[in-house]
Amino acid sequence: MTTSNPPVVPDDHELFVELAAGWTLDTLTNADEVIFSEHLPVCPPCRRAVVEFSEALTAVAAQVPDVAPPPTLGERIRVIAMESAPDTTSVRLTDTVGNTVGRVLVHGNQLHVMAEGLPHNKARKSTYVLWSLPHGEGAPPRALTPFDVDRDGATLGGAGRLEAELVNISAFAVSIERGRAMPESPAKVVASGAVASEAR
Ligand SMILES: [Zn+2]
Repeated sequence: MTTSNPPVVPDDHELFVELAAGWTLDTLTNADEVIFSEHLPVCPPCRRAVVEFSEALTAVAAQVPDVAPPPTLGERIRVIAMESAPDTTSVRLTDTVGNTVGRVLVHGNQLHVMAEGLPHNKARKSTYVLWSLPHGEGAPPRALTPFDVDRDGATLGGAGRLEAELVNISAFAVSIERGRAMPESPAKVVASGAVASEAR
């Protein structure tokens, strides 16, 4: 019989943000539920997050007709989870004339792009792609995640992972691409945003 050590906040705490969202939505696997149920009592930020997600979920549910939840509900909860995490970095995206058209949220190596004014794309013929631009001349941009913008301006998809530290990234860019694949290099850049130096 072994005694377990008291739970500690692990290095990869951002995983618990996802678990908190799943806990609220009651979509965790049994294993994750056990992990989170042990973590929750000892982690005030996660307790606060669960309360906030529950309130957000109630508010979202109140706006939705009494049918199946929209496919983006889980996505929206994850975005709320990232926004409320204390160490999330938000990078503003502007179009070619300087209007804000979205944000990139970065939490650890997780990222989420949110359109806030990008036009609807015909998802069968095109896709938006989020890119990271590394520091240094000649370093090629890296495709991070595809996403679509629906008729209501909401983002579909757009969750990805950084393959480099945020400190090594000078800017994010959004391109619109023909077809559904992420190309080697961006065709038409429609928005970009510099990573602020205080985020480094
Ligand atoms: Zn926690």
